[in-house]
Amino acid sequence: MLTRSMPLLLAFVAWLGFLKGLPEARPFFWFPVCILVASLCLFLYLREKKEEFAAVFLFSGLLLFAGVIQSLHLTRLAPVLFPLVIIATSFFRLPAVLIALLLFSLQIVLLATGLVPGLSAFLDTPGPVDAGLFSAFLMMTAGVSSFMIQRLRNAREKAETLLETIRRNARSIARETDLESLRSEETLSHYFASMLKTEEEIRELLVAIKHAVFADAASLFVPEREGYMLRCSTEEDGGVKISGGGVIANCMRDRKTCLYSEIDEKKITLGYTKGLKVLSAIVVPILDGSTLIGVLVVDSARQYAFREPDKLSVERFAGQLVRILERERIYFMIKRDVFGLKILREESSNLVKSLKSEVIGRKLCEGAEKISSSQIFFFIGRGKKYDLVHHNTSYSFEDRPVSFEKTVVNFAIENRHRHYVSDMKGYPIKIMPFETGEVRSVLAIPMLYENHLLGVLVMLSEQVDFLDSLQINLLELLCTQAAASIANAKLHAEIDKLATTDGLTGLFNHRIFQEKLSDELKRQGRVSNPLSLILTDIDFFKKVNDTYGHPVGDVVLKGVSRIIRETLRDIDIPARYGGEEFAIILPGTDAAGAKIIAERLREAIQERPFKADEKSFTVSISIGIAVSPVDAKKKEDLIEKADQALYYAKHNGRNQSVLWNSIG
Ligand code: GH3
Ligand code: MG
Ligand code: MG
Repeated sequence: MLTRSMPLLLAFVAWLGFLKGLPEARPFFWFPVCILVASLCLFLYLREKKEEFAAVFLFSGLLLFAGVIQSLHLTRLAPVLFPLVIIATSFFRLPAVLIALLLFSLQIVLLATGLVPGLSAFLDTPGPVDAGLFSAFLMMTAGVSSFMIQRLRNAREKAETLLETIRRNARSIARETDLESLRSEETLSHYFASMLKTEEEIRELLVAIKHAVFADAASLFVPEREGYMLRCSTEEDGGVKISGGGVIANCMRDRKTCLYSEIDEKKITLGYTKGLKVLSAIVVPILDGSTLIGVLVVDSARQYAFREPDKLSVERFAGQLVRILERERIYFMIKRDVFGLKILREESSNLVKSLKSEVIGRKLCEGAEKISSSQIFFFIGRGKKYDLVHHNTSYSFEDRPVSFEKTVVNFAIENRHRHYVSDMKGYPIKIMPFETGEVRSVLAIPMLYENHLLGVLVMLSEQVDFLDSLQINLLELLCTQAAASIANAKLHAEIDKLATTDGLTGLFNHRIFQEKLSDELKRQGRVSNPLSLILTDIDFFKKVNDTYGHPVGDVVLKGVSRIIRETLRDIDIPARYGGEEFAIILPGTDAAGAKIIAERLREAIQERPFKADEKSFTVSISIGIAVSPVDAKKKEDLIEKADQALYYAKHNGRNQSVLWNSIG
């Protein structure tokens, strides 16, 4: 309480002393007291940071100043108060300055009224209105100067917080770039989210630079093939126009920071133009290691707008820009890798889904096209030749196997390793066994599975060097996956064949015959079509076996089944019914049609000679025919009736065909 009231009390005493004319009458007493009051208040303010001490300190300071004027009769010194007030506002808060000024004004107005007699005036024209106006101007000066200072402070603070945020981000990114953390998908998505912010970050940083050095604009230029281009600027879109060359080009070459102050007079060309004339500029190279990745330029329409410390500030900001641009580069790389892996994951699972080589081939081409759009061909090996299974071009090709001999693709086949020609110019060898139009680069990937060559993927482009190493690696991985899928499809087809066909004759087995007959009966029934069933049995087959041996019997069985296949139409379904009996389903065929087919078959077989022990012999068959729906509707009944007809044929002379409905 005492420390609080003490300075006030002392200031009051000093004030009273002033009003009593002590600065003039008793200077050796009044001035030390006043200095003591001011020092005490300053000390208390610095210790406790309380505004009231600041106000009393300022007031006693003003009093001291007024005392000097009064004692020396130097009323002209009064305007010096204005700069002093401005200085005060930069050290103290506005309310403290205003309170001090208010108290001080009271005093000088009081003085000017002449109510206190015998005192020297403070101002030249000692009217109360003048004194009031003077005080009001003093207060206004304090207000304006405090506002200006606050604005400058805000701008600097903003720039510093921005710089700190950017620095913090850069640090956390540097930590995250750690490979360990790249594994989690969360980190990756975080990367992409911040990737979008890059542009924003650069802009914010440029705004911060602009404020920090009081420039008109800050712009970032990045190298482009022939020169440079504007990447980002604090100027509005289209506000900066590239004219090429100039100090930016010099900076790209010399890689040195430069400060320019009289651009106009020295006829310096900048390399860009703006709405406003640029008279000063700082040009800083942005280097990532030894690589130049950009040029940062701050400019001003004032001459000598920047000094050496500003150069250092801009260089510090440029360091932050390096981090942002470097991070952007890393993002871009990761994004590409992730994109590639995503395609690989999706397309691989697509490839695995199918068990048909044609579908796998199509999916492989679709996947390859996503990695690089080009002309894509996929071949599957057949002996030394290759079948074109799928392609994405508009050309039409002959449906016959091709040979890759003396073509570029053959390198990949021979070496069992991918072959990439980035520029075909002057290459003496043909690319493909057929015409492919204008092609500048080629990739051929052999498809290997357990060291077996299954096929080859060929990609052609009109562009020179159309693939990079990442794309080639991805395509190879995709082909490895496709090779496994095709091997799998082949195996599946083999197993399927084993399960459905008869090993000796290659015809459907009994189980499949039963299934097919059920299906066909249903299908033909739906459209009210007839269906005929033929059952045949080789005549005296036991005798063939007995005379020539079992292996010859097998040859006869194979021969007969070949004739059956050759004699029938594509829609007919032959099967080995059992032993030396065959069944044939004739969809959409009535009794008359079936009889014709049966007779044609019987005749073909009896005419076909077989050889054994240098001797030639023939066999004949007996045939029984039943027709659905006229003879029977149900499968079992139809088989039964065909069997009855066959039995009839056997017991009535063999080597003949018999319709069930003709045996009565
Ligand atoms: P039929 O004119 O009455 O039909 O007289 P068949 O001698 O043909 O009599 P059957 O149909 O009963 O004879 C079937 C013979 O076919 C019995 C069997 O030894 C023989 N056979 C069955 N399957 C095979 C085979 O896979 N290979 C060989 N070589 N012979 C077979
Ligand atoms: Mg038999
Ligand atoms: Mg027989």
